[in-house]
Amino acid sequence: MRITAAVLETSGGSFALRETELEEPRPDEVLVRVSSTGICGTDLEFATFFPTPAVLGHEGAGVVERVGSRVTSVAPGDHVAMSFTSCGTCPLCLTGSPAYCRSFDALNFGGRRPDGSSALSLDGAPVNGHFLGQSSFATHVVATERAVVPIDKNIDLTHVGPFGCGLQTGAGGVFNVLRPSPGSSIAVFGAGAVGVAAIIAAAISGCSVVAAVDVNAAKLEAARSYGATHTVDSSVSDSAEALREIAPHGFDFVIDTTGRQDVLRTAVEALGPLGRCGVIGVGPSQEMSFDWRSILNGRTVTGIIGGSSLPQVFLPRLLDLYAAGRFPVDRMMTSYPFERINEAIADLRAGKTAKAVLTF
Ligand SMILES: [Zn+2]
Ligand SMILES: [Zn+2]
Repeated sequence: MRITAAVLETSGGSFALRETELEEPRPDEVLVRVSSTGICGTDLEFATFFPTPAVLGHEGAGVVERVGSRVTSVAPGDHVAMSFTSCGTCPLCLTGSPAYCRSFDALNFGGRRPDGSSALSLDGAPVNGHFLGQSSFATHVVATERAVVPIDKNIDLTHVGPFGCGLQTGAGGVFNVLRPSPGSSIAVFGAGAVGVAAIIAAAISGCSVVAAVDVNAAKLEAARSYGATHTVDSSVSDSAEALREIAPHGFDFVIDTTGRQDVLRTAVEALGPLGRCGVIGVGPSQEMSFDWRSILNGRTVTGIIGGSSLPQVFLPRLLDLYAAGRFPVDRMMTSYPFERINEAIADLRAGKTAKAVLTF
């Protein structure tokens, strides 16, 4: 079928809306008409080196139009959020940790199905897609069944897209991995969309100290409205010193959403004994360094992908909190019509919005 997709024609370039051919879903795939898709830092990162032509986008939500012959979990008309895909048969998938699937990179970042084919083509030539199981910068996607999560039809799809990646990542890092007990302290580095999701999750968990660290004063002010008890503007103050004043014996938990070397070091060193640092930010490949004595007192540093979530279980729960008004992330989103994708990316890069969402 003919669809409209935002095609990345050269790495690092802008996106061009093109009439693109999309195959019918295979037996284990689902055709989804996209209602909204968030734009995530990972899209911007991959746009600099992903083999072109390509269709990116991985925070899609929409309505199922057709399903493959072996699909049982969704039916035409169902509303779905889309998330990462996984093989479903490796030990990590079978024990409920698909975010660490042995085939995660190949399935989510390979640009093609495992057999080398692509559902997308332009003028008869294949286009790289299947990005995180979907490629949602398009009016329609062919997603794997494992990447789609049926959700409550009463929830307006406009703001659902970002739940599948950024919001799941931030909230899942807290709810699924760090699991702070009531009364504990946490510092969240980076108050963008992922950081805000972590801040809300920490507040819901009952953390008595939730410190937000960022260089953007407006984001810090917003962080307070989501439950941060303290804010540290690291553009004007020494964040290590400021954090010591907030938690003189160190934080029980810290979470880094920035993927920056210097920030990671500060984050680890802000921990108290037995403290845990969750690393969820994605940045350029680089070394992380700190004095070995800084983790000798029982501190743990753990990497977290996709909030360590089982999306089929976690996303409906997160959306229940959203529907109940306890996870009010729609406030930080700015909607753009699909055709204004390049403007949305520019605004996101300039910090004019915490979360850009494309609507169709
Ligand atoms: Zn697997
Ligand atoms: Zn993402």
